[in-house]
Amino acid sequence: MSLPPAPLSTWARNVSPSPTLAVDAKAKALQAAGEDVCGFAAGEPDFDTPEHIKEACIAALRAGKTKYAPTPGIEPLRQAIVDRYAAEYGLKATVGQVVVSPGGKFNCYLGVLATCSPGDEVIVPAPYWVSYPEMVKLAGAVPKYVFADDTTGFRLTPAMVESAITPRTRLLILNSPSNPTGAVYTRQELEAIAAVALKHNLYILSDEMYEHLVYDGVKPTCVATFSKEVEARTITVAGFSKTYAMTGWRIGTTLAPAPIAKAIAELQSQMTSNVTTFAQFGALAALKEKEKTAAALKSMLTAFDRRRKMLHTALNQIPGMTCLLAQGAFYLFPNISSFGLKDMEFCSRLLDQEKVAAVPGSAFGAEGYLRLSYATSDEVIRKGVERLSRFCAALKR
Ligand SMILES: *Cc1c(COP(=O)(O)O)cnc(C)c1O
Repeated sequence: MSLPPAPLSTWARNVSPSPTLAVDAKAKALQAAGEDVCGFAAGEPDFDTPEHIKEACIAALRAGKTKYAPTPGIEPLRQAIVDRYAAEYGLKATVGQVVVSPGGKFNCYLGVLATCSPGDEVIVPAPYWVSYPEMVKLAGAVPKYVFADDTTGFRLTPAMVESAITPRTRLLILNSPSNPTGAVYTRQELEAIAAVALKHNLYILSDEMYEHLVYDGVKPTCVATFSKEVEARTITVAGFSKTYAMTGWRIGTTLAPAPIAKAIAELQSQMTSNVTTFAQFGALAALKEKEKTAAALKSMLTAFDRRRKMLHTALNQIPGMTCLLAQGAFYLFPNISSFGLKDMEFCSRLLDQEKVAAVPGSAFGAEGYLRLSYATSDEVIRKGVERLSRFCAALKR
């Protein structure tokens, strides 16, 4: 007896599963099978969450913080988020502008859902973080890609943004420091792009997930601080995952004008309710116990910076490969177009032959590149680059 076909929804059929998680899963499976894999695919810090943050969460759990909490987050955490924007950027906000969500990914998704209706267009700078196109499509909206390659440092100009705007454009996504390229825009560059968004009355979703992971003395930029007008159009997403090695906790933050924050909280109230209550107390400790947190962040940054330089130097010694020295996040994005292989093919052979896991640029809308995460040990970087170098030498150029 065969069952009649039961079609899945358009949402389910059109969504692409995260390719970065897929590569990472394949690498982890090989590792579990006893292979010596050098993993450059992970999108998360290789450090554990700092101890004082874990302790605060455990204490909250013991104290019975196990019930529903207010949808947008526990009051002291929202206040601490307001305080940190004031301290770091001089941005004056109120608790009503803050929503705590289950991971920065969900904060981004809710930001899109709150501003975009079916048929609206969203400008997505490419190379893009893999989830933006999918969350735009899940809102019934249409992603419009604007591509900046390595010759412009993977950064869009205001003219490039403006050329993609149509009467249907509602939202511009910005992500500096960038996943996957690590590129960091200057404040002036972002101001000029924000001016274009204002001129065309767009919303801006500024994904500042990597704001604290910057090197070479670069200062992070918070787009919402540019002017009252920009602030009134900007949804700022940030979080704990990358800065404090808390990816598994699932806590992200939105700062938005009060009416948008309210809409986001209402959407969340029907989709997930609050972030795990006792986890929020860990996040609170990350913001409150400032000295301990700063010390933990500093030691992670020192390690990331050392690995960044080491990986950058080693990649540029491989004949045929060129790589910019990105100033943020924990990724490098070398150009492999001279090797005459599609990047998917390159990565799949690299994993099979040399047991090196990297994510193909095409996963991020950028054929001809690799994303390599240096959130891994110095040892893996050394060994992995050696193998990558051997692999490249065997390819005809
Ligand atoms: C990791 C990441 C996020 C979201 O992180 P969560 O784990 O959901 O908190 C958002 N944006 C970018 C660009 C990221 O790399």
